[in-house]
Amino acid sequence: MKKIILTGDRPTGRLHIGHYVGSLRSRVELQESGAYDEINIMIADAQALTDNFDNPDKVRANILEVALDYLACGIAPEKATILIQSQIPELTELTFYYMNLVTLSRLERNPTVKAELKLRNFEGNIPMGFLTYPVSQTADITAFRADTVPVGEDQLPMLEQAREIVRSFNALYGETLVEPKALLAQNKACLRLPGTDGKAKMSKSLGNCIYLADSADEIRQKIMSMYTDPNHIQVSDPGNTRDNPVFLYLDAFSSPAHFERYLPEYASLDELKAHYERGGLGDVKVKKFLNNVLQEVLAPIREKREKLAKDPGTVMAILKKGSEKARETAAATLSDVKRAMKIDYFA
Ligand code: ATP
Ligand code: MG
Repeated sequence: MKKIILTGDRPTGRLHIGHYVGSLRSRVELQESGAYDEINIMIADAQALTDNFDNPDKVRANILEVALDYLACGIAPEKATILIQSQIPELTELTFYYMNLVTLSRLERNPTVKAELKLRNFEGNIPMGFLTYPVSQTADITAFRADTVPVGEDQLPMLEQAREIVRSFNALYGETLVEPKALLAQNKACLRLPGTDGKAKMSKSLGNCIYLADSADEIRQKIMSMYTDPNHIQVSDPGNTRDNPVFLYLDAFSSPAHFERYLPEYASLDELKAHYERGGLGDVKVKKFLNNVLQEVLAPIREKREKLAKDPGTVMAILKKGSEKARETAAATLSDVKRAMKIDYFA
């Protein structure tokens, strides 16, 4: 069986460092590993419209922003196919057939759906399209016959839903679809990076993000005003490193080389944490170190992004080509699905 990846993002804003550690960084590693036959990266504009249908300009503008973030991080169009969801109508058709295999109560019980509904304050007026988006995600994954789906932890229940639909389909209509599995970041801190405000998840919709496109000044300002341990008031107070986003970011980003370069009086992150926990280490010192680390990681991405942004035509051409290629793959899967469902009358 071919090793195929599908992954993607909603064009609801620029991508942030949560995306970087949660999925972008590993996508590039997977791309470079040569272990996969195909990598498909989808800009999920149709899905973004399910809760932004009243703001098409936002979704449209962010297609280019997200593509720039991808390319700046090292996604290479000759190795990975970047596609725009809405340009592949076969995905909508698959969604329609899969909807028969899911109940309303199952969708309402999906923890990701529940969390996202709460976040968006729909209050009883849930758009149908939003509620059914796990079904459309299943269409995306299966259309490309993906067996591996790199996602953040928040998406695991979505993937479970996809696996259930695949099993139902195959049991009813015969072995047709590939059952996918999630690929999570190895580093625990990267599973769900918290926001700069200390909220559980950095998310475009919450405005608590450090963006890949942020300037050096913006990054420094955001770090210096970050939420830390609210009980760590005096430098001498013992501090908490466990739910402290500054330390969680260091977990996700810092390496021994960063300590050698910027904070040689500590041998490792464990030593720095131990000092903070016993007291005597101030937030400003830790934040300055985090700033050095993030500036080093983000500067090359930002520079590459600025260069690419000068030529949007080339970026859009990459997306067009990727979408055309993706459409061929999705059409082949749809034709298998129709055959299995016995609706291939004129074949
Ligand atoms: P929105 O608020 O519009 O939902 P988002 O910031 O949650 O945006 P998505 O486009 O929904 O971003 O997520 C894209 C991918 O990035 C998913 O695989 C998701 O799990 C991952 N991801 C998003 N936020 C984080 C985070 N804070 N930490 C780790 N992974 C994340
Ligand atoms: Mg999200």
